[in-house]
Amino acid sequence: MSSKADYYDTLGVQKGASKEEIKKAYRKMAVKYHPDKNPGDTAAEEKFKEVTEAYEVLSDETKRQRYDQFGHAAFGPGRGGGGGAGGFGGVDLEEALRTFMGAFGGGGGSIFENFFGGGGGGGRGGRDANRGSDLRFDLEIDFEEAVFGSRRELSFNVQVECDACSGTGAEPGSSVETCPTCRGQGEVLMSQGFFQVRQACPDCGGTGKKIKNPCKKCRGSGQMQGKRSITLRIPPGVETGSRLRVQGKGAGGTRGGAAGDLYVIIHVKPHALFERHDLDLLITVPVPFSVASLGGEVTVPTLDGSSRIKIPAGTQSGRMLRLKNKGVKDPRGYGNGDLHIRVQVETPSKFGGKIKKMIEQLGAMLSDELQPEEKKFQKNMDEFARRREELNKLSESKG
Ligand SMILES: [Zn+2]
Ligand SMILES: [Zn+2]
Repeated sequence: MSSKADYYDTLGVQKGASKEEIKKAYRKMAVKYHPDKNPGDTAAEEKFKEVTEAYEVLSDETKRQRYDQFGHAAFGPGRGGGGGAGGFGGVDLEEALRTFMGAFGGGGGSIFENFFGGGGGGGRGGRDANRGSDLRFDLEIDFEEAVFGSRRELSFNVQVECDACSGTGAEPGSSVETCPTCRGQGEVLMSQGFFQVRQACPDCGGTGKKIKNPCKKCRGSGQMQGKRSITLRIPPGVETGSRLRVQGKGAGGTRGGAAGDLYVIIHVKPHALFERHDLDLLITVPVPFSVASLGGEVTVPTLDGSSRIKIPAGTQSGRMLRLKNKGVKDPRGYGNGDLHIRVQVETPSKFGGKIKKMIEQLGAMLSDELQPEEKKFQKNMDEFARRREELNKLSESKG
């Protein structure tokens, strides 16, 4: 957190790099460290967030200028607003993924976006050529579902296997022959200068099969517009930015290729009681003015029920109390987070004449001794005024 790497170093570009160079460098890094390519690898995830943060700044003219001038101090530690407990100053994974999609994904805005710039895989060996694309599905769930786990029925429109030809692309009843050019291998050897290079067979598009009589419904593509319905199991402990991979539920492959995968990105709605910070929970509990003064007990909801907690006499608004291990259970089984309780002293605001009188009397009785904070505040205020005078005089005398 203290010594942050230079953004230019992070992307491996020169200080004077052009916009294109920066984007290119970012793409290379981001694809390499993308969570989809490194599932469960937290080091790669960190790296992905770092390069994205560097890209966010250096790709923006204004931010880049400020960074060149002031370094990391230009953005301060409290970036991102919201003021969550323990602000990290960096970007979170969800934001990083959004930035990545914004820079390279298709358009944005739609629920589905192709990963890594569209299907086909650019001739990476014949076999993958017909695999369907991966899909992204943004799912909003409530706090309870995220913490306790849930099941959701999802249904969405997507390219699926043609039902007439079962995705083969051949008219039902007609024969599919082995491709004579590659003899069913899907790959051919081509000469390039002195070298022999393996390439996807141009005759069959890497499938190894030839269709004599293309399916009339899908015109030989093996795909059609369709609908998928799945039951998604949401494991307990997920949070905003969690990614659930559902194998084989993305777009259907062409000509018998495997279907792509579906990635469900979790978005958790804000909750009326609990605010979540990783595995820790934060709850703000209103405490009556009298209880805060005299001490007492209040009931606090927990994930497994409720707890009575002690409010010490003289508790101020904003005081933090903690219930250990009453936070969210780690989905990987590494124990529980804590439940943090923020006391909010409730000042009476609606009252009749009798209570008003009593509060007035009470106010008159509470001397400085009983309100030391107020006394201290007054003292600091006087000291500040004195220093201001002093320094004003000093600058006047200098001329
Ligand atoms: Zn068909
Ligand atoms: Zn072939």
